[in-house]
Amino acid sequence: MGGRLDDPFLTLASDIEGEDRLSGWSTDRDADAFATLGAGEFGAMLRRLTVPGAEALAVPGEVRLLDRSQAGTGGLRVTLAWPARLRGMASLRSAGGVVRHAVAYTAPGEVCVCRRQECGGVTPVGWCAEHGDAAAPAMEWHPGGGLRCMELTVRS
Ligand SMILES: [Zn+2]
Ligand SMILES: [Zn+2]
Repeated sequence: MGGRLDDPFLTLASDIEGEDRLSGWSTDRDADAFATLGAGEFGAMLRRLTVPGAEALAVPGEVRLLDRSQAGTGGLRVTLAWPARLRGMASLRSAGGVVRHAVAYTAPGEVCVCRRQECGGVTPVGWCAEHGDAAAPAMEWHPGGGLRCMELTVRS
């Protein structure tokens, strides 16, 4: 689904265990789309969330509708919430979705052809001898630009 919220208010948790919230006014046209998100149910995916003055965010699932209230004038106030640990930067590809980084337990070597990230992780490509499909090493995944990513960037 796609939807637009006017006068959005976005609260981002600073703790990985926290919860992010977004509320705003839905237009009549989008109200039905938001209504399909059952109250309290997890599962919707936020492919691309654009807020003026900030980088586009994405949340791969577990977005739920926290609150939906009709104001006297007919406007629909919608509040969405999701676990802060899932939030990351949206991919620049048109399909959107969150960019995922993988952190291997050893630093990338010379044969690595993956895109290096500031957090010390990589965006693995299938043909990398070290991190590709054939090697399939155990790696820690986190959303790029998310809280875990920032935590690792500060440390490195
Ligand atoms: Zn690699
Ligand atoms: Zn990262």
